[in-house]
Amino acid sequence: MNCTIITIGDELLIGQTVDTNSAWIGQMLNAIGIKIYERIAVGDIAVQIVKAIDTARSQSDIVIITGGLGPTKDDITKKTLRTYFHAGEVLHEPTLARIRAIFEKRGRPLLAINETQALVPDNCTVLDNERGTAPGMWFDVEGKVIVSLPGVPYEMKHLITNKVIPKLKTQFPLPEIYHRNLLCVGIGESSIAQMLSGIEDSLPSTIQLAYLPDLGMVKLRLSAYGITDAAHKAMLDKVYDEMKRIMQAYVFAEEDITLQEAVGRLFQAKGKTFAVAESCTGGYVGHLVTSIPGSSVYFKGSLVTYSYSMKEAILGVKKETLETQGAVSEACVREMLDGLLRVSDADYGVAISGIAGPDGGTAAKPVGTVCFAVGSKESIKTYTIQFFPSRMENIRASAMTALNLLRKAII
Ligand code: AMP
Ligand code: MG
Repeated sequence: MNCTIITIGDELLIGQTVDTNSAWIGQMLNAIGIKIYERIAVGDIAVQIVKAIDTARSQSDIVIITGGLGPTKDDITKKTLRTYFHAGEVLHEPTLARIRAIFEKRGRPLLAINETQALVPDNCTVLDNERGTAPGMWFDVEGKVIVSLPGVPYEMKHLITNKVIPKLKTQFPLPEIYHRNLLCVGIGESSIAQMLSGIEDSLPSTIQLAYLPDLGMVKLRLSAYGITDAAHKAMLDKVYDEMKRIMQAYVFAEEDITLQEAVGRLFQAKGKTFAVAESCTGGYVGHLVTSIPGSSVYFKGSLVTYSYSMKEAILGVKKETLETQGAVSEACVREMLDGLLRVSDADYGVAISGIAGPDGGTAAKPVGTVCFAVGSKESIKTYTIQFFPSRMENIRASAMTALNLLRKAII
């Protein structure tokens, strides 16, 4: 079973909007055993759309299209599909009723142009879009399926999850898939590959190991496609356990969660709290931590002390330390952490100070030099790590490292 994804919109071609839809759809379909054959992006131009659909149909069982379903003249996907299929047009009453309700709720006048969103080709099955005005459309054509969805990611995701995937599952015999994730932090992809080379060499052909690196972390995914029996699952589990044993020091989760979520769960389980003193990350660690619902249980807060004067006034960093060793020094982050633990009353803390760049580097401390202090009132450790030449990467890598240091401090 394979799928071609077509994304439609002039804005996608010039990078005004980054096409996140096809990446997300690719992940979702891959997870249920549908191979992605090709991704095609075209402008809001009928001949291009038609050519893309012709190509997609010729090579795939499933075609998923997003974009071009808005009420304005520039969006022509629906009209193009109707012409393409030589279909008539019908009014979909439930959609019209929903559009009316949406406008009534917002207190806005319903225009004729909005009502046209309830008109659909008469050869499609409507996929009700509870999140917006443009309905999804499902076409069954000569044993193949063509689905057209709105481009707005929030609406598209709703339709894929709740309408398209359940319908695909009933219509196609999809292979059973079994996979397990191992999330590692503080180690690079190539080092992991070296550690796992023995396992990889002896993997049976029905089991695949994928490396999915992201900044500061690597997701390892073991997958078995078309698995049907317990023995096969047990075989994958055995490989997984062996992988886990080898990677033990670096594993922060066995399910698809973020590092900040994993750290939060650890602190919550142990009934401990932490706080952060941030310089070069400018509050980013605090942002990541507070993105997790319920973080108030274990997170005391983040103090963003960017200047010398704030490091001194709030955290009690000594003027002498700043003058003799600089703000990016292990002595400075140690004093930042001392001050943080005093002010916050948190059980654990981490302090971060570094040179994010592009300016400010020296021969001794080039751009990407970041100092960390981590620990509790009982024990503090300090580190200096050399990251990247680019500012945002340094900020993100520093935040991941700080979270990982907290994780290691508590376990
Ligand atoms: P449309 O359905 O063409 O009216 O698209 C509505 C909005 O959805 C556009 O303004 C974009 O911001 C967004 N959008 C459309 N296609 C994509 C895509 N492939 N990835 C991410 N966002 C998209
Ligand atoms: Mg558009």
